[in-house]
Amino acid sequence: MSSPNEETQDPTSDRPTVTLRKGAQRRALAGHPWIYSNEIEMTPAAKALPAGTAVRVKAEDGRAIGVALFNPHSLIAGRLLDGDPDLPIDVSFLARRLERALALRERLYDKPFYRLIHAEADGLPGVVIDRFGESLVLQTNSAGMERLLDPLVEAIDLVLRPRALLLRNDSPTRKLEGLETYVRMISGQIEGPLALEENGVRFLADPREGQKTGWFFDQRENRARIAGLAKDMRVLDVYSYCGGFAIAAAARGAGEVTAIDRSEAALALAEQAATLNGVAERCRFRRADAFTELEAMAKGAQSFDIVVADPPAFVKSKKDLGQGARAYRKLARLSAACVRPSGFLFIASCSHNMEAGMFAEEVRRGIHDLARGARILAATGAAPDHPVHPALPETAYLKGLLLQID
Ligand code: SAH
Repeated sequence: MSSPNEETQDPTSDRPTVTLRKGAQRRALAGHPWIYSNEIEMTPAAKALPAGTAVRVKAEDGRAIGVALFNPHSLIAGRLLDGDPDLPIDVSFLARRLERALALRERLYDKPFYRLIHAEADGLPGVVIDRFGESLVLQTNSAGMERLLDPLVEAIDLVLRPRALLLRNDSPTRKLEGLETYVRMISGQIEGPLALEENGVRFLADPREGQKTGWFFDQRENRARIAGLAKDMRVLDVYSYCGGFAIAAAARGAGEVTAIDRSEAALALAEQAATLNGVAERCRFRRADAFTELEAMAKGAQSFDIVVADPPAFVKSKKDLGQGARAYRKLARLSAACVRPSGFLFIASCSHNMEAGMFAEEVRRGIHDLARGARILAATGAAPDHPVHPALPETAYLKGLLLQID
């Protein structure tokens, strides 16, 4: 781990400077937080800077742009932190960003279960912190934040005093920054699942072994919306993970809920959570492959009042866009086929490479392939604890469509 180094401390007089290429300052001056590697004069001195160094950024004409975390080995070479090139990037800076994010979440939610930091939009590029009460799960997905890990942990301790802090640095996106993947406890203990509460429903998540940080807080509002339709309904939740949609629906009075996932561990937590909420007798959990099961149910005329299909990202990189688009179309066709006439389908995509219009088009095609009509009731995104930086609309990765199917 890095020790606090000179550029993380005040004074910042020896902070290195990188210069933008001629004409490359327009986006940065307009408030875009990323500087691409081909926009920077990659002098031997710049190339030699350790990945993640805090640098002053200036335009070719000498104008100051701000302070950025610089990684000469990444396509996103500069991640701007502030317009003041001399701002000390230290514990107190990090604590101020944490405090601002915390105040927002405390305004949004009455219980301490949420995404506390959502990277650039919360002013901490590459940082994700998910909060499970007094336990926090941290990811530092940029070289700059990896380098600032010590002051960041100090700031987290100052602002939040967590009982446990887990570093879940196993995201594949770290490779783009030249970072290793690893998982380790920074402080305290997390053994087994943690309890959380969302929309008044209790769930269990496993931050050490579960997917990503253990829970998908981004679907909170979508779960509440679906649950609000679920009274007395027969609900199918495909790709259920730990039962986020399924148990929320059951808790709001669904008559019968079937949850399908291929992960035994996720289903085990879903089953326990159903018991915690007193809805186990109305929930069935089945381990299966989603497409296989949907094909069988569609053929067997099993029809549900509500189908939820919230799969993992089908488009992992730009090159799988075509194949991923076809998979969304197929998912829309098969999941809509399981909806009874006038029932509801909620279908989601968390692939950031698949923009909203394209996703909606694939869903439209899939439903049209079935020769059924439909109407879109809502086009949704992630919950507000996953804010979007206004200059990075492409980071609004989660798309959800709620439809009524004829
Ligand atoms: N809807 C969930 C999140 C889904 S995450 C929620 O509200 O929290 C995606 C899930 O898809 C994971 O649980 C993963 O185990 C599951 N999954 C991935 N591929 C699958 C497949 N082929 N068949 C069934 N489930 C699959």
